Amino acid sequence: MREFGYRRARDVAGAVTLLEADPDARVLGGGTNLVDLMKTGVERPAQLVDVRELPLQHIESTSGGGLRIGATVTNSDLAAHPEVRRRYPALAQAVLAGASGQLRNMATLGGNLLQRTRCGYFADVAQPCNKRSPGTGCPAIAGEHRNAAILGASDHCVAVHPSDMGVALTAFDAVVSYETTGGPGELPIADFYLPVGGTPHRETALPPGALITGVTLPAAPVAAASRYRKVRERASYAFAIGSVAAALEVEAGVVRDVRVALGAVASRPWRAREAERVLTGAPAGARSFAAAADAELAAARTLPHNGYKVALIRNLMVAVLTELAEEDAR
Ligand SMILES: Cc1cc2nc3c(=O)[nH]c(=O)nc-3n(C[C@H](O)[C@H](O)[C@H](O)COP(=O)(O)OP(=O)(O)OC[C@H]3O[C@@H](n4cnc5c(N)ncnc54)[C@H](O)[C@@H]3O)c2cc1C
Ligand code: SF4
Repeated sequence: MREFGYRRARDVAGAVTLLEADPDARVLGGGTNLVDLMKTGVERPAQLVDVRELPLQHIESTSGGGLRIGATVTNSDLAAHPEVRRRYPALAQAVLAGASGQLRNMATLGGNLLQRTRCGYFADVAQPCNKRSPGTGCPAIAGEHRNAAILGASDHCVAVHPSDMGVALTAFDAVVSYETTGGPGELPIADFYLPVGGTPHRETALPPGALITGVTLPAAPVAAASRYRKVRERASYAFAIGSVAAALEVEAGVVRDVRVALGAVASRPWRAREAERVLTGAPAGARSFAAAADAELAAARTLPHNGYKVALIRNLMVAVLTELAEEDAR
């Protein structure tokens, strides 16, 4: 690991000033991803700006009936918060499905959104990788790609975003707030992550030197009946090979409101808009759920070793929606 400077920010203005002063500075949240990447040389910041003592550790109700979650709220505190569990249960479930208790005690909301892909080539500085070293190529396409993207990928990168939390935040239309020396800004999560295209190294629309200050979840009554389901290669402490966050409201047997987002299928948490379109106004039953999954997955493109994901996600969507419909009927 190369030498680096360390500064502890006392307030948000001080943090963004430090970040702007040095383009090679990085925000340090819990450090559970950044420090690992520094050890392997993938990240080589000149300075770390520790933001853990900033007053961004609160979860509050908004006047519009939503929730505001500060950027340094730990994953453990987020998952345990009674209003998160009551109003957005899929979010609490998604957070608890990720990492381990020790990691969740350290990891923060901001860091979870910006954690980097777990693609093995990205993590190995001896390998080419368009995301880490633009223009060097993507060895995953002809190599190890069992967990590669099936939606929205490009010939430049097929890596998936690893966050569980991000999938639930995407289902619930979270808005990401940030601060720069030029003032505050906001990005709906649908615009926060950039499409991979020919620039896989550009992952978000955050301006350079921006500090994420929090996330706002708009009021969403449907979210109270929501669920997150994750499939992984072992029972715990593993990243998803597929996941679904869904919420469902049924009236007289017909889908009145629905949210679906998918994890580990694309370079970003994937909002299943086509599935939602098919479901809205349709009978709440297995046939509609399967048709919705098929509609969403019609755009899937697979490589030789990740084709299993299409069936996995289809089955997962149908299972989660069926469970939600059965609960609604009780
Ligand atoms: C063994 C292991 C298993 C894991 N399993 C899972 C899993 O199953 N599911 C899952 O979702 N995650 C998993 N994780 C990832 C873990 O959740 C992330 O490492 C964690 O969420 C990152 O949060 P952090 O605060 O530690 O971020 P850091 O490591 O501090 O930072 C990560 C990135 O975000 C930037 N950053 C941090 N905060 C801000 C901010 N406020 N503004 C701007 N930039 C910021 C940093 O500069 C850095 O680039 C796992 C991690 C490990 C080590
Ligand atoms: S899939 Fe993306 S992250 Fe992995 S090697 Fe290819 S360019 Fe790099």
